[in-house]
Amino acid sequence: MPPHLLSVDSLSRDHVDHLLRVAARMEPIAQRRQVTRVLEGAVLGNLFFEASTRTRVSFNAAFCRLGGSVCDTTGFTFSSMAKGESLYDTSRVMSGYCDAIVMRHPEQGSVAEFAAATHVPVINGGDGPGEHPSQALLDLYTIDKEFTRLGKQLADAHVLLTGDLKYGRTVHSLIKLLSLYAPMRLTLVAPPGLEMPSHLVDLVASRGHRVEQRDSLADDYSDVDVVYTTRIQKERFTAEMSEGFSLSRDFTVDRAFLDGRCGRDTLVMHPLPRDSRPDANDLDVDLNGDPRLAIFRQTDNGIPVRMAIFATLLQVESLIEQDLRPVRWFVPKRLGVDDAAL
Ligand code: ASP
Repeated sequence: MPPHLLSVDSLSRDHVDHLLRVAARMEPIAQRRQVTRVLEGAVLGNLFFEASTRTRVSFNAAFCRLGGSVCDTTGFTFSSMAKGESLYDTSRVMSGYCDAIVMRHPEQGSVAEFAAATHVPVINGGDGPGEHPSQALLDLYTIDKEFTRLGKQLADAHVLLTGDLKYGRTVHSLIKLLSLYAPMRLTLVAPPGLEMPSHLVDLVASRGHRVEQRDSLADDYSDVDVVYTTRIQKERFTAEMSEGFSLSRDFTVDRAFLDGRCGRDTLVMHPLPRDSRPDANDLDVDLNGDPRLAIFRQTDNGIPVRMAIFATLLQVESLIEQDLRPVRWFVPKRLGVDDAAL
């Protein structure tokens, strides 16, 4: 494995397969049936300079479930970057305190710059519109797990990516990760001006995948295996783009779209958060409770996958099974009130 996890570009197919296998071994711990302490004594530095709920908390929880402890800082206001400290200095300072560092930052390339100043493993928790490699790994893990349940295979899968494909870093990482696998069909549907960057489309096509770009969801998608929809990343819009922008309802993934245009077992995924404000027209809540809606299984999968990333970067993955004990506290059988029984 490379020393840091900054971009999907640094991962080979073998690295990815290894991480997914380690993640599967983390399931009993992530599902709160067993406890391990393999990272007892280790400290994670969680540095988040952009809004986050899932990524920050799940990296934190994953490290704690391996027995480690976490120190974190959120936003520029309460960090020394507000006093003009460079990424280089912050990186060196944090390296003296922590055994692994997760960083999210609004500028593309910033996490790589930070990582260049340290030998402590750094994980990119999202660098502006750049990448979000751990999200892509958990997305792939989710697809793989759901496909196993449905008796499907990645080879020849048809994946539809929709929403803000220009600024959505999760889809940038995911499309590259998927392209490491057997040839697939990828359909990209974006509103005008928010299309997938052409270098990514070219890269995936050059690896033998069938890529098609469309501008509407009003089509026959009955052979689509996964609909991966994303939020419009308005925080990355220029003032000019923001003015008067509103996402047409035609781009909304909802029950009518799924029942009317997709297959009976088409999965719906979203990196979340979904924008539930009126007129946002993001993924509709009318699919809540529908077993095809995999979004919360997807967020749950963030724990074993992020545990696997830590265990691999900190080289304890061979020790996991030596150290297991049963959980002693109460854990509900089903976590969410609308969780489908699968
Ligand atoms: N949580 C994801 C990210 O940080 C997706 C999003 O914000 O829309 O990129």
